Amino acid sequence: MRTGQTHLFIPGPTNIPERVRQAMNVPMQDMRAPDFGELTLGLFDGLKKVLRTESGRVFMFPGSGTGAWEAAITNTLNPGDRVLMARHGQFSTLWVEMAQRLGLDVEVVDVPWGAGAPVKEFARRLGADREGRIKAVFVTHNETATGVTSNVVAVRQALDECFHDALLFVDGVSSIGSIDFRMDEWGVDLAVTGSQKGLMLPAGLGILGVSDKAMAAAETTTMRRAYFEFADMVKMNEGGYFPYTPPTQLFHGLRASLDLIFEEGLDNVIARHRRLAEGVRRGVHGMGLELVAEHPSLYSDTVTAIRVPEGVDARDVLRIAYERYNTSFGSGLAKLNGKVFRIGHLGDLNEGMCLTALSVAEMALAEAGTQVEFGRGPAAAMAWFTGQAESPALRV
Ligand code: PLP
Repeated sequence: MRTGQTHLFIPGPTNIPERVRQAMNVPMQDMRAPDFGELTLGLFDGLKKVLRTESGRVFMFPGSGTGAWEAAITNTLNPGDRVLMARHGQFSTLWVEMAQRLGLDVEVVDVPWGAGAPVKEFARRLGADREGRIKAVFVTHNETATGVTSNVVAVRQALDECFHDALLFVDGVSSIGSIDFRMDEWGVDLAVTGSQKGLMLPAGLGILGVSDKAMAAAETTTMRRAYFEFADMVKMNEGGYFPYTPPTQLFHGLRASLDLIFEEGLDNVIARHRRLAEGVRRGVHGMGLELVAEHPSLYSDTVTAIRVPEGVDARDVLRIAYERYNTSFGSGLAKLNGKVFRIGHLGDLNEGMCLTALSVAEMALAEAGTQVEFGRGPAAAMAWFTGQAESPALRV
């Protein structure tokens, strides 16, 4: 029998704040009512603030982040277009696969899982592409499988330095709303996210930020699309309506979650994620474990992927945490399966929750056969959270 609170430390879906849950508990309403826009129109404005775009347009597709990927690709590219992508974790790998399935000519750069987007290699290939055959560059801002945050600004610079006209696609599914992301300032053409991570909602909305340049491309591109057609959305969204049945309860939840984010302040939300993530990382290092991320400059503030010692199976850690301690951690995905477990630390989170994650991790690791000196992980995080850490500059 399970008693007490179940702990969810996966990098999405994330914990839903009580206020957001309550906001969704409303009767069903008429999606064609004259006043429906009173609920929806403000959501577009709120999402623009989260994406930090003034000139861009926001779409909310019933679906998930993967649907938003597909909408981004099919609306703005042509069949057979060459696109430049990196593969350095499970999500960037899936994005490559989708692009291939949709008939794009994908130029893939493989780098180790744990590395960031290969900016220098991207710059070299873009520089060599004198005929402008590369139509888009894709960056997974936060590779949720490896806990790696890539430098989108540097990719923008690489494009600008060689006056390259390719569209910049960014997967911000596990970064937007939690890690600094600036659509306009960084010149992002297509920004993709979902409702179930930094926005602290159930899954169900695929959210897209689209630049003017990408909207212009959508007018002439010929890739097949139906459900995800931007033009249908544009027409209906004008009055706050949708071309098909929208998830109204999620909209009520989104209103509440945007309110929470703006009450805390987006900059403060981002700073909180940084502070909590640093505590988790210090805790993990305090336990003597290594991260998948190759370098501190790549550390993700939303998810930490942790290597278990040789001879220990990370699946045991996950199972013990779940069965004995009511706690879910993220699993090691694809080639990291069995070698890695992940602590998701995004959304509605505080210091005490991070300490719980570290404490349960220590117990599960010990029971799975790891040598653990109990308390070292939480102690390192506590020192950080209370300002008593020895070296605040560990991140360099
Ligand atoms: N991209 C990243 C970086 C993700 O973390 C995820 C999901 O975890 C996805 C894409 C896929 O999003 P969804 O599961 O909402 O379709």
